[in-house]
Amino acid sequence: MGKEQLANKIISIDEAKAIVESVVTALSTEKLPPHLAIGRNLSSEVIATVFIPPFNRSAMDGFACRLEDLSEPLKVLGTIAAGESSNITLNKGECLRIMTGAPVPKGADTVIMVEHSESIDENTIRFTKDKTKSNISPKGNDLKPGDVLLKAGSIIKSPQIALLASSGISEVNVYQQAKVGIISSGSELVEPGNALQEGQIYNSNGHQLTSRLNELGIVANNYGVSVDDYDLLKTNISEAITANDLLLITGGVSVGDYDYIPAIVEELGFDIHFSKLHAKPGKHTLFASKENKVILGLPGNPVSTLIQFEECGQWILKAFAGSTHQALRIKSQMACDYSRKKSDRYELLPVIINEEGQVKTIEYHGSAHMQAITEANALLEIPININSLKKGESVYVRPF
Ligand code: AMP
Ligand code: MG
Repeated sequence: MGKEQLANKIISIDEAKAIVESVVTALSTEKLPPHLAIGRNLSSEVIATVFIPPFNRSAMDGFACRLEDLSEPLKVLGTIAAGESSNITLNKGECLRIMTGAPVPKGADTVIMVEHSESIDENTIRFTKDKTKSNISPKGNDLKPGDVLLKAGSIIKSPQIALLASSGISEVNVYQQAKVGIISSGSELVEPGNALQEGQIYNSNGHQLTSRLNELGIVANNYGVSVDDYDLLKTNISEAITANDLLLITGGVSVGDYDYIPAIVEELGFDIHFSKLHAKPGKHTLFASKENKVILGLPGNPVSTLIQFEECGQWILKAFAGSTHQALRIKSQMACDYSRKKSDRYELLPVIINEEGQVKTIEYHGSAHMQAITEANALLEIPININSLKKGESVYVRPF
């Protein structure tokens, strides 16, 4: 099959993912302080160099003492606050008042909670219970030098930031952030804030993609609306792809008279790897590359744009970050019956996972119906060749 035939062939979503992952290669890496690397993927593993906890640490406010002494009154020798340490070694019948986070003194093998003690006099206390936990977090219990703190490919989020900080790490190796541009194509599009003339609609895709990328830690270059003028679009696309690693173009990728994107992308020297998917929504989704510059042409209807960005867009971004994207999917059950007329496409349907964890369908008018997406909290996966799903049937859903 020739290149052109291949590009026009309708392929499955799995084939499309394999193509994206074979075409897109990882961007270069850089060293950054963790707080500037939010949303990035680690390009190398991080190894612990310290013990966590760094010393035997009290997990409670109370008294550090010897388990064998608990049946008798205990003499209080002093206090250890968090941040202090004591060189006292406890002997029989002795204890030290200790605060959460303070190092447990030598000789002590347990910390009794302050709530499980009573004062006998100024310097003597008694344990008031029968049993106690040790309430000591041993040195190195969570991590030891040489342990893998974070694996290569991990995404930096706030828990990872906390872990790195707790280990005293001030720099990490991460993949560079992909530069992403967005062009919303369509002569009918008007930006919110302007009045609509007959035949016009508001541009929602540009705003949707910009904010979705923001959520992923990427400040996108939103180039706004481009009208369906071949030469103008070509200039805009050419400039935008020069300045970015990935260009997202919405609209104009299907088979209408003004759907110029495939021809322009080819004229600019890009290889079109696919332009049709057995996917609903998003049959007309175009993926093209030239060296490691990538163009993703997304269908114009906003639900299609959103869903195919979550598929193809995420695969591309992950490949730029040296890894593969795996959508979070969970096994659930249908809360109602569902049927569709045609089953030739793999469908992602906006649904609600109800409080029982089951999948409920919602009113959905098709790929222009944004309201449905705002009400949904998940996408139901409907495989090819499946026409109907019965109440109680097992299904996979992707919460979002
Ligand atoms: P197209 O893929 O250009 O044929 O567009 C398919 C449908 O999506 C048409 O009804 C367009 O008006 C609509 N559409 C295209 N781009 C946008 C956009 N940026 N925001 C909202 N709707 C759009
Ligand atoms: Mg259009």
